[in-house]
Amino acid sequence: MSLSARGTYHRLAMNICVYCASSSAVAHVYFEEIRNLGREIARRGHRIIYGAGAIGLMGALAAAARESGGEVVGVIPAFLNDMGLADPALTSLHVTPDMRSRKQTMEDLADAFIACPGGFGTLEEIFEVITFKQLGRHAKACVLLNTRGYFDPLIAQIDRGIAEHFIKPQYHALFHVAKSPAEALDYIDKYQPRPLGEKWYSEADVQTEVGGG
Ligand code: AMP
Repeated sequence: MSLSARGTYHRLAMNICVYCASSSAVAHVYFEEIRNLGREIARRGHRIIYGAGAIGLMGALAAAARESGGEVVGVIPAFLNDMGLADPALTSLHVTPDMRSRKQTMEDLADAFIACPGGFGTLEEIFEVITFKQLGRHAKACVLLNTRGYFDPLIAQIDRGIAEHFIKPQYHALFHVAKSPAEALDYIDKYQPRPLGEKWYSEADVQTEVGGG
């Protein structure tokens, strides 16, 4: 990857799946940062895959990317589409039979995943792709965009899981925590998958390193 004189990136365009809040009631700083992310994805020539919503951070992401000339692909289950929740200005829209097939479609289309601050829906979506990566079902980049330290308590929970041997220490590398949209996309643009070993502790591990505690 290199920057041209016009400031555009020379790299294959990627489909970047963004999970983020549908809430419209969150602080201004979250809207600012998701717009920065939408603009930065478009500027680098990548395409957004997201949940198709026109409201909250989802809508702000799509609008900012579009205004910067980016492509925005929505994936929505039929019941939410029937409620009129899909953004009418998408580049394209996939309507799936249900929520599970929606997540599968988003995962299949994506080359990389970014979770921005959000609620249950966002947390469930990013944890599913991290879990599948842990089980070797894919090796795509996963990023938490940690606007305003939103994910700090979640990262502390993961650290506790590691300290208590629920999670192997090397699995911290399943995802990257980014302070800014540029850092998130630099990580994705340079990302090379690397083996993280088997998920489960062996009998020998249990006797030597886990043992007592
Ligand atoms: P939450 O973080 O709970 O606001 O949920 C956001 C996630 O759930 C998004 O990534 C979407 O996949 C899905 N979702 C929730 N509400 C909507 C909506 N109004 N339109 C489309 N998708 C939604």
